[in-house]
Amino acid sequence: MRTVLAYSSWWLVMVGFFALTAWLADSEMPSPGLVFAMTVVNTFFIAGAEQLLPRVKEVSLFRDRQTVNDIAHGVLFSFAGRPLASGAGLALFAWVAPRVGTLELYWPRQWPLVAQITLALLLWGLQNYWFHRAFHSFDRLWGFHAIHHDTPQMHLFKSGRTHVVEEMLQYFLVPLPFLFLGVPAEVLVWMGLFLIAQGNLEHCNLDQRFHWSMHYILPTPQLHWIHHAQPRSLHDSNYGATGPIWDLIFGTYKHPDRYPIEAMGLADSPVPPGFVGQLAHPFKELMANRRPRVG
Ligand SMILES: [Zn+2]
Ligand SMILES: [Zn+2]
Repeated sequence: MRTVLAYSSWWLVMVGFFALTAWLADSEMPSPGLVFAMTVVNTFFIAGAEQLLPRVKEVSLFRDRQTVNDIAHGVLFSFAGRPLASGAGLALFAWVAPRVGTLELYWPRQWPLVAQITLALLLWGLQNYWFHRAFHSFDRLWGFHAIHHDTPQMHLFKSGRTHVVEEMLQYFLVPLPFLFLGVPAEVLVWMGLFLIAQGNLEHCNLDQRFHWSMHYILPTPQLHWIHHAQPRSLHDSNYGATGPIWDLIFGTYKHPDRYPIEAMGLADSPVPPGFVGQLAHPFKELMANRRPRVG
């Protein structure tokens, strides 16, 4: 029974989440209120599910001393970082678009909604791939991203453990091409819902298992655990958040069956344990002009 549940957990959460959202939206575009409510529902549901069907019994968000910090980072980026950055991106678009025009004609609005969402996810995945890879490749950016990796435990709240500056940069840059392409708001809303559910699933401690071939198609948590593993050769891989396609194309793909994980997190992590210290950490590294990269 446990095995059957583990092999169906990813699908049950995804299909259930989208079926419920579509039913509540009643063939309309989900409203901002519904998106917020469904984010809360998804988070609470997975928080419960990972207690009932944990992948690693010893791991629990209730026992992790960093959980409070994880939530604090998540709250800061959700309620301050993202809206500020998206607002600034929109303002830039409003200023630039009348001067240079947009590419609105190129977006295939006539395609079925699911095909448009898939295309948007591919495009978002491509942008996010290079954004994420840059944070691993440049030492000065790594100081910000190390906070996401400085954790030996994987559970639900790690999905929101991101430095607010990284989050703001992401939400300033990523929406711009979508605005210039004239991607319909409905497509963006459904894509956003997928990213929320996916981010929760790939970090949580819910037992999710897959046939080996699925690791070539879906953004499975096993791929993302490799991305959170030591040493650097492991965490400098599997950058894709919407699926492994861009890692396969750009040569940073590692299949879970071939790369067993021995330790998670960062060896000799320079990231301080306190919340304020974590926020200040990358700036201190920059001012000290240190090369902050560790294994
Ligand atoms: Zn990373
Ligand atoms: Zn992660």
